[in-house]
Formats: sequence, C-alpha cells, structure tokens
Amino acid sequence: MTDAIGLGLPERQRRDGLPERVTIWEVGPRDGLQAERTALPASQRVELIRRLAAAGASVIEAGSFVRADRVPQMAGSGDVLAALGDLDARLPVLTPNLRGLDDALAAGAREVAVFLSATERFSEANLGAPKAAAEAAAAAVVRRAVEGGVRVRGYVSMVFGDPWEGPVEPSATTELAERMLEWGASEISLGDTIGVATPGHVHRVVDAHRDRAIPVERLALHMHDTYGQALANVLAGLEAGVRIFDSAVAGTGGCPFARSATGNLATEDLLWMLDGLGIEHGMDLSAIADTGSWLSAQLGRATTSRVARALAGGKEAR
Ligand code: MG
Repeated sequence: MTDAIGLGLPERQRRDGLPERVTIWEVGPRDGLQAERTALPASQRVELIRRLAAAGASVIEAGSFVRADRVPQMAGSGDVLAALGDLDARLPVLTPNLRGLDDALAAGAREVAVFLSATERFSEANLGAPKAAAEAAAAAVVRRAVEGGVRVRGYVSMVFGDPWEGPVEPSATTELAERMLEWGASEISLGDTIGVATPGHVHRVVDAHRDRAIPVERLALHMHDTYGQALANVLAGLEAGVRIFDSAVAGTGGCPFARSATGNLATEDLLWMLDGLGIEHGMDLSAIADTGSWLSAQLGRATTSRVARALAGGKEAR
C-alpha cells in the first residue's frame, strides 16, 4: 500500500467569458500583519516582501504610515520602503492623512492608498471620524498625492454589510467611489470587511458601479473568508469583469473592529483557483506557499489557507 500524495497544481480548465489575466494585490505585509498579534520588526517585513516579489508578486502593499502607538505592527514602514528601493515591484502604502503622505513620500513611496467607510459607525470606529470628516481628510491626501504624480488607490470598507448597521446599500459605496475617482484616485477596492458577501451580492454591487459609469477595470475586490465565501465571491467578480483581487499570503489579518471577521482571502487559495481556471497572474503557487509557511512560523501561528495546508500535507506524505 502506498500513501496518496496531493497534487501540486490543479488541472487547468479554462471557462469562456472570464478574463485571461488578473492582477493580484498582495496585502499580507500591510492589511495582514497590522491585525496580527505578533508584530514583526521592519527587517522581517522587508524579508517577507522580498520573498513575495521573488515568488512573482507584482503589487505588494508594503506598510502603513499611521501612528506607531496606534498600530505598532506597522512601526518603521518608512524603513521598510527605504530598504526596498531596488525592488522591481509596485509597493503601495497606506497614508490616512497628509502627515502620513509626506512621510511616505520622503521614504520613497510612488503609490499610496486611502480608506473610507461605506457606513457611519465603522467610519467612527475605525477611522476615528464621521464619514464627512473622513472624506475631507481623504480628499486632501488624494489630491496632493495625484498632484505629485503619485498613483492612489481608494479603499471602501463595509461594502457588503456592517456589524452595527446591518445591510449596506450599494449607493453608499458608489457615491464614495465616484468622489474618490473625481479627486484623482486610479482604482477603488471594494472591501467585504466582515466577509458576509455572497456571489449574487457581488454582482449587484459591481453592477451598481457599472450603472454609475464607473469602469469595471477600475474596481478591485477585497474579500474576507469569514463565512467561507471569499473564493465564490472572487469567481462572481471574474464573471462580472473585475480583474484586480486583493489577498494575503497565509490568510493573515482580519479586522480588530469587526469582532467576527477572520482573515483575508489567502493568496495560496486564490492562486489555486486561478491556476485551475487558466487565468494568468504572474505568481508561483509553490513559492508563495513556501513564503506563507515561512511567515506562519515567524508569527507563531498556523496558516488559514486550505491550499497551503493541503500542499504541506502532500509534501509530508512524500
Ligand atoms: Mg482585509
């Protein structure tokens, strides 16, 4: 009797109507790590980003220019950026205010991101300001960045539901998306912050943006796997024409303000599905899985990626 071993890659079967190629926006070093209990020093975050780039990641969110006393996990983000000047990957960073933007630019940032919430309660809880005030602050950051030739991504949180306010109307998001694009943002990432979306809901939200003449190429999906729906939601996004997807190696992260929210969609899980569908993404699944297991060891916790666990099981059996 021989032990069964896992397959290293899925069988490739293309489906008509899906994009040939997508961009994966790797959020592990920022959105992932900022919600982890263990804070990694800048040097380890630099190593993580180098490993991700070596595995083919072309867009890697590298840090956040926030107060270190508020988010100690992101302390030294300037050092992280400065140490990666030679890297041939896009390294956007989060800049919630003008001071953060100035610090990011001084550290060499060429791409930044700002956050807004579709709901009032989450804006107050997470951004520390009512929606109107948060919008004014974000507008100032986006405008100054764009004036300086810096590319900006706008994030919207709580697009698919809010733990305090319940259901969220798509118009709450499309209004923010329209405004951010008007200020000069290049793309909008739609965040399922608590992971409650289902595929039909994804279609409804993407359609609502299309109805407002927002090009689908400008939209990204940021799904959380709280209810195990993240990949189904990505497939719905692919069907709707979305070509940018956020994910975090080893499924790191979550949301400290959304009690039930577990981690981001794991990059390993996303790659398995995209590889199976024959959709190009430029990353190497096995190298990403190795990076995820390295990162899990640094954090002293198990990966949440089902694919990573299955691949590791297959390796052990060999
Ligand atoms: Mg996230």
